[in-house]
Amino acid sequence: MTPDRLAEFARTHGNLLRELPDGAVTTSVATGLLLFGTLGHEAWLRVDGTVVLGEDGDWGSQGASSSYREASAQEAAGAIKVASRRIPDIGSLLPPRREGSTCPTCKGTGHLTRTDGAVFEGIWCESCLGLCYLVEGTT
Ligand SMILES: [Zn+2]
Repeated sequence: MTPDRLAEFARTHGNLLRELPDGAVTTSVATGLLLFGTLGHEAWLRVDGTVVLGEDGDWGSQGASSSYREASAQEAAGAIKVASRRIPDIGSLLPPRREGSTCPTCKGTGHLTRTDGAVFEGIWCESCLGLCYLVEGTT
């Protein structure tokens, strides 16, 4: 996954782009494709190919606002994998799985996995973020 490929995807899927709500973002986040949003977390693919994470540690409080930061390569890939359930085309942006890159934390399940092998499917692995493998530069 390269920023150029992400930017091309964002440009060719312009119908999915939307403005972020006024006042909800810093000026460094303009427009983008919402990859996912859940309580206290959201991820956006910006037209420049970067992925931005919004985090609100105080969600639910009146007047609370999110803070935004650029995602790491692993975070960006995890967000794209989640988005591929809703937008299948975006799965083509996932970085290739390299030999030996299976996540050592979850053993490739993508979910929280205990040392005895029990898998908690509702919780993403904290290392690979649901991707099942580590992207280049993470290992
Ligand atoms: Zn993992």
